[in-house]
Amino acid sequence: MKIICGIDLGGTKIEGALLSIKNGSFSVVERLRVPTEKEHGYQHILEQIKKVVTLLEEKSGTKITTLGIGTPGTLDPSTQTLKNSNTVCLNDQPFKKDLEKILGMPIEMANDANCFALAEATLGAVPEKVPNAKVVFGIIMGTGVGGGIVINGKVLNGRHGIGGEWGHNFLHESGGPCYCGQTGCVETIISGTGLENFYERETGTRKSLKDIISLYQTGKDPVANATMERLITYFGKGVASIINVIDPDAIVIGGGVGNIDLLYTEGVGSVKKYIFNKTLETQFLKPKLGDSAGVFGAAMLVN
Ligand SMILES: [Zn+2]
Repeated sequence: MKIICGIDLGGTKIEGALLSIKNGSFSVVERLRVPTEKEHGYQHILEQIKKVVTLLEEKSGTKITTLGIGTPGTLDPSTQTLKNSNTVCLNDQPFKKDLEKILGMPIEMANDANCFALAEATLGAVPEKVPNAKVVFGIIMGTGVGGGIVINGKVLNGRHGIGGEWGHNFLHESGGPCYCGQTGCVETIISGTGLENFYERETGTRKSLKDIISLYQTGKDPVANATMERLITYFGKGVASIINVIDPDAIVIGGGVGNIDLLYTEGVGSVKKYIFNKTLETQFLKPKLGDSAGVFGAAMLVN
């Protein structure tokens, strides 16, 4: 048996968990959260993380010697500073080094999409459904689109720390400008926001994705139908490009858009049309761990 510690740093809360790992199965030893209080700034966030670690140690009677942390944004391997975080006070800070200093221990770090992919690949949907999977791609399709690659139970970060950042691959000009500075990114087309933008562009009316799906189900709103067709077509094209490059055994789809059942039927059919192969054997899975994937995946960084 082994005890591992994970921290999930979010914009509003910091969650910590101790997991007991034994023969591929796991149980939660301790789990707690404190508010991030990011309005108090960078130094305060470091202190709050330290508080989570101290509380976990006190409650469990376990001495923590290393931990994994999931962060919004990515540690740039060359500068060792954090980038692309929506908790903006973390950007350009030597977050890993500062945290290791304040905690007095070595840590591992990954962004939230990578933690999601790692958790589902090692503790979640994949071991249950595709037990021999070696290569797993985790997708988060929500307000944005993120992704993470897990190979033999390890995250592939890559040279720039952007391994798996599929959301900013070029997909089609009709997506328009993306916040990242490019145009036509995957995220501009098949994220919840991208689909809502499309519906608004065609009708002049803004509706939530949930309402658009309800309208689609009535069959009476041609633009809602076109929005879902757009999702299916571009999900197929976008995911096919992943399969042609890393050829994963399983793809786990999380996030609000990932809940749409149509993705697992017509969506997979669409992927099949665009891959460089006659058959499609990659398994498409719904995630199993829910909100816990972030903190469990962080812990698995140090397993
Ligand atoms: Zn982009």
